[in-house]
Amino acid sequence: MRIQDASAFFSTALAYLSLLWGVAAGPQSFVAAQAPVAIVERLDNGLSQITSQHLKLVTDLPVTPEITDLCKMFDQAMAQWGKEFQVPRSQWIDGQATACLIVDRKRFTDLQYITPEVPTFREGYQLQDRLFMLEQPSAYYRRHLLLHEGTHWFLWRFLGGNGPPWFSEGMCEMMATHQWSEQSGSLRMNWIPTDRESAPLWGRFKMIRDAMASDTAPSLDRILQYSDTAHRTDEPYAWSWAAMIFFSKNSRYRNALYENFLPNLRSHVGSEHKLTQDFKDRLQKQWPSIQAEWTAFVNDLDYGFSPKHSLPEIDLNVLKPTSIPNHVTIESERGWQSTGIRLNQGDRVSITASGSVVIREASPNPWESEPQGISLQYHQGFPLGKLIAIVVPIDAPENESSTTARLTPFAIGKKHAWTSNLSGVLLLKVNEPSAQLFDNAQAFEVNSN
Ligand SMILES: [Zn+2]
Repeated sequence: MRIQDASAFFSTALAYLSLLWGVAAGPQSFVAAQAPVAIVERLDNGLSQITSQHLKLVTDLPVTPEITDLCKMFDQAMAQWGKEFQVPRSQWIDGQATACLIVDRKRFTDLQYITPEVPTFREGYQLQDRLFMLEQPSAYYRRHLLLHEGTHWFLWRFLGGNGPPWFSEGMCEMMATHQWSEQSGSLRMNWIPTDRESAPLWGRFKMIRDAMASDTAPSLDRILQYSDTAHRTDEPYAWSWAAMIFFSKNSRYRNALYENFLPNLRSHVGSEHKLTQDFKDRLQKQWPSIQAEWTAFVNDLDYGFSPKHSLPEIDLNVLKPTSIPNHVTIESERGWQSTGIRLNQGDRVSITASGSVVIREASPNPWESEPQGISLQYHQGFPLGKLIAIVVPIDAPENESSTTARLTPFAIGKKHAWTSNLSGVLLLKVNEPSAQLFDNAQAFEVNSN
């Protein structure tokens, strides 16, 4: 049996019907209702169907408020997709997808919801206006999967294509990572989780940290070249997501990304990888700097990462050798910041830092810290507030390194002199978890010779 279409909806004999939002009344009031409305019915085939303005959800699960909320959430997602992808409301307002939320895959195959052209999928799949999702062990991840497949659908339906694998999966993962308020029934997509509990079983940060710890993190160039079959395991989703955060939330690259991809998705169906090449060509002059920024970014990526505060900016075209005295201001509310100093292995480096910063200025008990830090609390093995450093390698071979280097922070404090055993650009920051930088104030003044 095919999924019933909307015109057949009201004439269907309903096993039960309920209006979940809006005024409790007969079916006709559904059309006129102002609030988002979803209608639940039991189909003749024994499955349940929930219908809202933009989604028809068919499931073999018991229909609980958590399940009906999926439709309410999807209706809100439409406006957020429209805004992010610059599709005017008039173009998407009549769109509706059909989603199957599946416990028993065989049952959906027997009932011909899963038709022969649907490949055997892992967790979810989008085929034209149809979305397929296996039931998930957490409410968060169930919603996430629907938003992920929904993003594929929106890109396909209203922009004509999904682009290359890193772009498509990265965009879907970025948009699907969300906050949902059960109380107010409101959705915030395109969100970076602040802690593990806020996105149970999402696990992208852990995958990234585990790969960094085992030196198997792919380079940015490798991620951008992911093939059509790369996303058969979870890790490529995490890396595509990270690449999308890196580009789309960076004011220096966002326009290049969106201008290059969004208007050209339709014309590049079948030649998706060309879009990535065009994007890299457009940023060719900055690409070595971008690779260095990526390395610093990935080494810092964790729950609560704030692109606004922590996306690094490294310009390799203006680096100075260690022999030239240098002054730089290191802001306490920002992540890794370039000193503009280029180190070569064997260079003798001497750095002095002065001034004081305020950690957690917004809290009732702000702490003032000098460059040596406050030894009341530690992060990464150093006192909070201490001035710390990394060296980002910049001499990757021309044919591009295949992994992203793991960097080991070291202490600077008030004064540090050392002989460098690393080559690269020197970055500094005030030691604190990424999630807590935003409420700091003031800066350290740093001199080197
Ligand atoms: Zn996907």
